[in-house]
Amino acid sequence: KLHNIIQDLKGNIRVYCRVRPVSAAEAADPAHDSEMSLDFPTSGDLLGRGLSVVVPGNLTGQAPQKHQFAFDRVFSPGTGQEMVFDEISELVQSALDGHKVCIFAYGQTGSGKTYTMLGSRDQPGVIPRAMQQIFTSGQKLAAQDWRFNMQASMLEIYNEDIRDLLSRKKDDGKKHNVTHDSNGVTNVSDMTMVDVNRPEAVEQLLAQAMEKRTVGCTHLNEQSSRSHMVFTMRIEGDNTATGAKVSGVLNLIDLAGSERVKESGATGQRLKEAQAINKSLSALGDVIMALANKQEHVPFRNSKLTYLLQPCLGGDSKTLMFLNVAPTREFAHESMCSLRFGSKVN
Ligand code: ADP
Ligand code: MG
Repeated sequence: KLHNIIQDLKGNIRVYCRVRPVSAAEAADPAHDSEMSLDFPTSGDLLGRGLSVVVPGNLTGQAPQKHQFAFDRVFSPGTGQEMVFDEISELVQSALDGHKVCIFAYGQTGSGKTYTMLGSRDQPGVIPRAMQQIFTSGQKLAAQDWRFNMQASMLEIYNEDIRDLLSRKKDDGKKHNVTHDSNGVTNVSDMTMVDVNRPEAVEQLLAQAMEKRTVGCTHLNEQSSRSHMVFTMRIEGDNTATGAKVSGVLNLIDLAGSERVKESGATGQRLKEAQAINKSLSALGDVIMALANKQEHVPFRNSKLTYLLQPCLGGDSKTLMFLNVAPTREFAHESMCSLRFGSKVN
């Protein structure tokens, strides 16, 4: 396949841009500037790579500006969950072959990160589809004497502290410390690990995840957009006939909203949150850029997120970043910031 050859030449980092549709509420709101600011491939054009943004002029006389971008893929608002997953299923599969994989969703709050990663019951996103695929493939490989042990965890990084999202208690009050052993295996202390070797376990975990997210969307919306959510699946495979072993990790990450909260205007908790997010997102950008440029020093230790994911970001691991953007002029500035971030790391 041609696109595989291109990927091999480019290395292990890919950037996919996903443009969400204009919502009914936005279209109906006269105060919302719902003029399109993005020019993207027409619906169904999965191989689209280019996109341009028009940033409107302002009252001080600055003229409108058009900026062009190119990514590994650009998904138009008409591209559904299944089509998006088709484009990453190979990457998900490589975790079963023993690779370490990270898939991120980056973008401002409301741009479609959670829709992409988690989705809804009717429109499941990357996490439920990935789990289903890994489980089904694992079962098929049983015919070739492979036995898999799969475990999942879900955590949140808020103000540089880790919280266990699968713990039964709302807040277990524990300090979760991250360590890596010499084999690149990460341990987070006191983290709930759930066996996902049966379909029922998968469904149960997803129900729990959906529930947490529902809570997140109603009462804690502010907070859920101020934290990074990391879903991790560890896959250990054993071949009972040949003795071969594989060990892969799949990390699926719904990042905190990328909109810059002005540190100057904010105070107290809000300022602390803003600083933690600004710091960790720029640390992530720096790490991916250092890896892409094959720099000798990669600054993993500059944030909790990059330190946690360190063994899954360097070496022969694979990284994919979704850039989620909203299509209207209202958000043109934030979209520009996201696309700029994406082109830096691409
Ligand atoms: P974020 O997690 O980045 O804050 P959400 O995923 O919550 O954003 O998306 C904001 C809203 O837009 C939600 O109501 C979501 O269902 C909707 N949405 C986002 N992306 C899409 C899409 N590709 N197709 C349809 N609806 C979408
Ligand atoms: Mg979200």
